[in-house]
Amino acid sequence: MSNISFKTLSPQVQIPVSTVRPFNIAVAGTGYVGLVSGVCMAHRGHRVTCVDIDEKKIALMLKGISPIYEQDLEALMQLNKERLTYTMDYKNAYKNADVIFIGVGTPEQPDGSANMFYIANVARQIAETIEKDCLIVVKSTVPVGTNDKVEQFIQDFLVHDVKAEVASNPEFLAQGTAVRDTLEAPRIIIGTDSDKAEETLQAVYEPFGLPIVSVSRRSAEMIKYAANNFLALKVSYMNDIANLCELVGADIEDVARGMGYDSRIGSNFLHAGIGFGGSCFPKDTKALDYLATLHGYELRTVKAAIDVNKDQKVLLYQKACKRLITFNGLKAAVLGLTFKPGTDDLREAPALENINLLLAQGANIYAYDPIGSENCKNIIPETGTEQDRGKYKGKINYVNSAEEALEGANVCFIFTEWDEIKAVLPKDYKKLMRTPLVYDGRNIYDVNEMQENGVEYYSIGRA
Ligand code: NAD
Repeated sequence: MSNISFKTLSPQVQIPVSTVRPFNIAVAGTGYVGLVSGVCMAHRGHRVTCVDIDEKKIALMLKGISPIYEQDLEALMQLNKERLTYTMDYKNAYKNADVIFIGVGTPEQPDGSANMFYIANVARQIAETIEKDCLIVVKSTVPVGTNDKVEQFIQDFLVHDVKAEVASNPEFLAQGTAVRDTLEAPRIIIGTDSDKAEETLQAVYEPFGLPIVSVSRRSAEMIKYAANNFLALKVSYMNDIANLCELVGADIEDVARGMGYDSRIGSNFLHAGIGFGGSCFPKDTKALDYLATLHGYELRTVKAAIDVNKDQKVLLYQKACKRLITFNGLKAAVLGLTFKPGTDDLREAPALENINLLLAQGANIYAYDPIGSENCKNIIPETGTEQDRGKYKGKINYVNSAEEALEGANVCFIFTEWDEIKAVLPKDYKKLMRTPLVYDGRNIYDVNEMQENGVEYYSIGRA
């Protein structure tokens, strides 16, 4: 069972609020969005059935174990177990539900567009199953116009004589803080095209006591993409400026600090680093670019954000290539695997691309991550896959501490700013590594302190 640190939630979040009107809710998909939403809705008094097609996930949840790492999630699952059910039996879950939330994945396709396979699949299951009027709410991130299509699709496949309306309710949680983000969201966006759907969704969210922004379905779908793309742009902009800072002798940390005081800019998302990863920004930037192209429009700002990010992800590796004659046979410590701290998710994590480059060059990698190692082993196995054996010259070993990874290493790469990694002191690099050469993609350390401790230190946007 993962760490239960329920105490970290604010008092307001800790108290289950009894709702005026509890709904029978089904949630399709128990990933980062579906499970967190379902559990939080149960916490706010609704009866929730969480549906998934993944047998292993359901088996874990039935034992009270969360299949994903997210702070406070397991504690809330236990606290609200009377109102929570987990099942693969979608027919029973959907047939009498008042509201069905769809939280399945919309991954990137090779052309950059969002893959609608899972959404269509659930829509069909719903259409063939529901036996009473029902509101279907799309929480997954979907291209503008998808809600219209889902409604028509369900209509086309309905088996019983019932009314099925579709509403948009995009999700803005961030992995690592998903529970808090859901229970204390700055706003909830609901996109509806009828008064009845709007009233129902307003009533579902009433016990959350949060501001609700009610718009049309298409605007709701667009708000999600516009918001994510804006944040991705902010990150890429700061990374671009960071690279220029290095060339002109400025310090990006100071620059960000100075910029952040300006309320028109805000201090969030100004941290330069190794580029954005995760399951959202990379695919959502490409999906919006694709959507614009489809409509004959060139979204130049978003294209630039994608472009900068692509280069940024391999910047540290390239810096190291300039410094070292070869990686072949070198021991490389990799600190941090997940795309950010607080999550076990490795989707589009910068560490993966860099590890593959290092392995291809024959590095002997010792990787440490407090949570993400098991998931990483499924992507890059310690033994290498049959296919890999021909491809890779190097080898990867997953170890249990940063110190173990650093012991005798020739070079170190930092990809995730976990507290456990930030706890490594500058002097430890000097003490533990064979050659204290550190490439830090998260600007964890003070440049001067590293230098004073005899560490050759390269970071992002700092001299
Ligand atoms: P995920 O991959 O973690 O989870 C999706 C789940 O859906 C999986 O468990 C899968 O087994 C299940 N599933 C697939 N088909 C199903 C079916 N027919 N019935 C029931 N379950 C089914 O995905 P996620 O990260 O939670 O993202 C879901 C959506 O939310 C995506 O569109 C994503 O862009 C969006 N979103 C994600 C985040 C985030 O931080 N992860 C934040 C906001 C929005």
